[in-house]
Amino acid sequence: MVGKKKKTVIATNSWYGNQITLLEERGVDVRLLPDRADEFFLEEMKTAHALIPGLLSVSRLIMENSPHLVIVAAHGVGYDNVDIPAANDLGIVVSNIPGVNSDTVAEFSFGLILALVRHIPSFLEEMKKGGWRRPEFWGVELRGKTLSIIGLGRIGSRVSRLGNAFGMKVLAYDPYIPEQDFRNAGAQLASRDAAISQADFLTLHVPITAETRNMIDTRELAMMKKTALLINTARGGIVNEIALVKALDQELLAGAGIDVFEEEPPQDRRLAAHPQVISSPHIAGLSNEARYRMSRGAAERVAHALKGEMPPDVVNHPQNPRYIKMG
Ligand code: NAD
Repeated sequence: MVGKKKKTVIATNSWYGNQITLLEERGVDVRLLPDRADEFFLEEMKTAHALIPGLLSVSRLIMENSPHLVIVAAHGVGYDNVDIPAANDLGIVVSNIPGVNSDTVAEFSFGLILALVRHIPSFLEEMKKGGWRRPEFWGVELRGKTLSIIGLGRIGSRVSRLGNAFGMKVLAYDPYIPEQDFRNAGAQLASRDAAISQADFLTLHVPITAETRNMIDTRELAMMKKTALLINTARGGIVNEIALVKALDQELLAGAGIDVFEEEPPQDRRLAAHPQVISSPHIAGLSNEARYRMSRGAAERVAHALKGEMPPDVVNHPQNPRYIKMG
């Protein structure tokens, strides 16, 4: 790119952008902005060639106001914050990084399971305030319990193997993969209702789609064992939050571990603050290793597109992709 006019990448702060130099070495100007689509942001986008949006919602309005934009590079697996039909219409490629944090999310999901089942946060509070009280509920072992996984993809299959390592019986529901994948992951194929109703631990690892939105609602919660725990480290909106709060109040299930919310941060704190819930601020996918891979992966995809090459892991089908004119 030496001798050519500098290209500009806008990245939001939630990109964890420690790979800025990778782009700067290629003669690209990187501007880090807050995750806010305000007037200043829209003005900056007028000269941007690439966007690493982090958690920002990339609307049609943003893309229509970005005449030079060739790529929106999501730094993780999910790209549900990008308006894909708008990107297709405008010729903008959207990329993600599949598998970038599968181990990180799978391990965190088990962190929530263990914290819930052995009431670990309550001991933390007790010890910090100088106490030594041992509560009535001691919790149970994982060995021999049923772990049900909805969505046996990259993360779900790692969760399955961790379940095997804990000596659990693993059931999985995923209508889009071959039987062989269940065997490889050490999971037994189950129907959706069997997976939900037989679970001691029900954990969700599907993307948010029209089909998975509110997949766990009043009906499904009523089918769960009263002693069961629900884990959602996938996406807010897959579980109907109002129905879950109600079901927890009615003791239809024993508790939940929730990393993701319909609205982030949640304005309605009823679920996050519920006494039977352990919650976290959409952090399951972040570890030092994942952060490095996410940061580097997004930078590499941008670098490809700015050279006029098709970047890896393009998730949309843009008509007349603009990146071709970049090289
Ligand atoms: P993946 O694409 O490898 O796996 C998803 C699986 O879900 C696939 O096997 C697919 O067949 C299955 N699926 C799709 N629709 C389904 C349905 N209706 N019923 C049952 N199964 C269905 O994705 P992945 O890498 O395993 O990630 C899963 C999800 O985890 C992502 O889409 C993302 O939303 C979420 N995620 C969250 C974090 C976090 O920080 N909390 C981080 C990374 C990913």
